[in-house]
Amino acid sequence: ICQRAHDCRRSRRRGLSRGGVIPARTVPKSLLFQKVQAWCQLSNGDWALGKVESTTGTESVLSFPEGKVLKFNTESLLPANPDILDGVDDLMQLSYLHEPSVLYNLEYRYARDMIYTKAGPVLVAINPFKEVLLYGKNYIEGYRRKSMDSPHVYAIADTAIREMIRDEVNQSIIISGESGAGKTETAKIAMQYLAALGGGSGIEYEILETNPILEAFGNAKTSRNDNSSRFGKLIEIHFSSTGKISGASIQTFLLEKSRVVQCAVGERSYHIFYQLCAGAPSSLREKLNLKKAVEYKYLKQSNCFSIAGVDDAERFRAVMEAMNVVHISHEDQDNVFAMLAAVLWLGNISFTVIDNENHVEVVADEGAHTVAKLIGCDISDLKVALATRKMKVGKDIIVQKLTLSQAIDTRDALAKSIYASLFEWLVDQINKSLEVGKRRTGRSISILDIYGFESFNKNSFEQFCINYANERLQQHFNRHLFKLEQEEYIQDGIDWAKVEFEDNQDCLNLFEKKPLGLLSLLDEESTFPNGTDLTFANKLKQHLNANTCFRGERGKAFSISHYAGEVVYDTSGFLEKNRDLLHMDSIQLLASCKCPLPQMFACKMLVHTENPVGNQYRSSGADSQKLSVATKFKGQLFQLMQRLESTTPHFIRCIKPNNSQLPATYEQALVLQQLRCCGVLEVVRISRSGFPTRMSHQKFAKRYGFLLLENVASQDPLSVSVAILHQFNILPEMYQVGYTKLFFRTGQIGSLEDTRNRTL
Ligand code: ADP
Ligand code: MG
Repeated sequence: ICQRAHDCRRSRRRGLSRGGVIPARTVPKSLLFQKVQAWCQLSNGDWALGKVESTTGTESVLSFPEGKVLKFNTESLLPANPDILDGVDDLMQLSYLHEPSVLYNLEYRYARDMIYTKAGPVLVAINPFKEVLLYGKNYIEGYRRKSMDSPHVYAIADTAIREMIRDEVNQSIIISGESGAGKTETAKIAMQYLAALGGGSGIEYEILETNPILEAFGNAKTSRNDNSSRFGKLIEIHFSSTGKISGASIQTFLLEKSRVVQCAVGERSYHIFYQLCAGAPSSLREKLNLKKAVEYKYLKQSNCFSIAGVDDAERFRAVMEAMNVVHISHEDQDNVFAMLAAVLWLGNISFTVIDNENHVEVVADEGAHTVAKLIGCDISDLKVALATRKMKVGKDIIVQKLTLSQAIDTRDALAKSIYASLFEWLVDQINKSLEVGKRRTGRSISILDIYGFESFNKNSFEQFCINYANERLQQHFNRHLFKLEQEEYIQDGIDWAKVEFEDNQDCLNLFEKKPLGLLSLLDEESTFPNGTDLTFANKLKQHLNANTCFRGERGKAFSISHYAGEVVYDTSGFLEKNRDLLHMDSIQLLASCKCPLPQMFACKMLVHTENPVGNQYRSSGADSQKLSVATKFKGQLFQLMQRLESTTPHFIRCIKPNNSQLPATYEQALVLQQLRCCGVLEVVRISRSGFPTRMSHQKFAKRYGFLLLENVASQDPLSVSVAILHQFNILPEMYQVGYTKLFFRTGQIGSLEDTRNRTL
């Protein structure tokens, strides 16, 4: 019984009823009329629009434009919207809201380069993968003057500015979606609009120029996106009381460090490495002993050096120019490039085995010498740091030689941490430059560009963190939408019957509960010297099996029932990625360097360390006890949510129409899966449980008044409307009469519209 309840709950959470997230409705009577259009699901899973030729009992025969005739179970058919609703601006206007009608509407618009559509308060953006003529001065001006009003990022940004000024409340634009869906481009488009409207002081130019820098250091070519952001970003743009931009601050989340030392075939490491190798002027090349990208092992391993249509050398010049704009001095820029070269050369450092226990020594070749020079240390210190480890045994400190694999891990850990520290340092510098007006008297608009929900064949620690963040954002989203709905009903005097909505608190509890939640158990296991990914997985199964959102899987795996679907995680590497240790020997090496950046990086690492420096060598051989990655991320997330809570949010959901980065290619199944994941169908579901179709009394009376069989005593729109409702026998529970508008349950207008069409 327990398992069945569990399964039932799971499928309910995911809303996988046949008609999609929206529970299948009984087919309305109008469908039984012949020649009416209906949606049916073909054997390949796609939805197709057919014409009902005949209905006999439980079966209906449908014909299709290309001449085919097929039989379907009548119950499985879904009603089609009248033609007047083709390609509506807002999915809320659809009389019949279900997956095929939503998919069709989006595709209809997409095919006409109308890539933006509203889903109630949410903006849906479908990646065109080509240039669309929707941006630039004239469009900005059009939205500013309100002479344009079709759904657009500009319209969202415009609303944000207006509401910020009108309500004196900070605003946020929350952009989510899969990798390659268009989040980063959308964020830039929003920034462009804000800069155009709030510009004047020149600071807006600086803000826009942070994009090429952060993209160079934080984006990479992946299999899904040639310019994939490997970090999350929140940019808060500050406005003065007169609505002018006065400064900005940037916060980043979870940079993917592993890419620096390892990336899959066909992908690249961070853009900046290739840009530096291709574009550095000769004096710089000489100073850094710079080679071509193919000569660096870290870059060579994935066998991918260039991106179609991208000139890395030219981008490098743009990055240098952008660094000038955000006031990074030439000296600092040179230091930055030296760190990049040091990382590349670290990858070329090799080891020789010196005994039969596989212990190694650093080969003192060009690689090692160049690294030592670039970071400013003695080569002997570098050799010691990479091939040995100091440990405290009792009162003594002993020096242990490292094996080949330990030495390689140590080298890679150093490369990763130099890069991550460099990224952090850059963000700090940018923030100092953007913090112009120190007084924050005005208001702000924050733009959040953060990885959406991810579910791959193999899901690891990164997906675990990302999906946790998305659960938090989803909760924020639900709460907000729910509140909005409620407000509109109250404003129009509608009897507010509680609309139920699914909340994901159970899943959040699964992550956050102490001491028996995913994060606590992960941290606990990460501190055990003998903890392994397997003992971690077993512990989860032992303690969390009672939680309905959790399921232990075979071996080292477990699954979580997320709001967007079930994801199976493989715990391999969880503990190590969560600990993210840099050995104290490496930190001390950096601290001893003569160059300013490594010293600064070491300093920061030691500040983040909880143990005092003198107490660094623990008998386990482990190092300083810094915050675990998951705990740090959770802290950042809480802080983020707190900041977002105090803002009026505007949501943009980006959708990727195909996996090949191709224009004019709309794959139904792929779009549908994203609509489900990013909660667009949830919005639709929430509104469906209320009264989603709204029409003013005037419009309703005008559109259907001629259908009245008897004259109405009073010709005022409300009386006419009420008479229509009575004549058509629209049940009282199917509508509400508000002060200005009529509110209908889904589908009601559709049947009126059918009658109207037959009569006309
Ligand atoms: P994400 O940040 O969601 O991973 P990006 O914003 O990097 O995705 O978009 C991926 C690519 O899709 C871009 O490099 C660009 O080629 C294309 N793209 C995205 N949005 C647009 C748009 N509005 N117009 C034209 N191309 C776009
Ligand atoms: Mg991105």
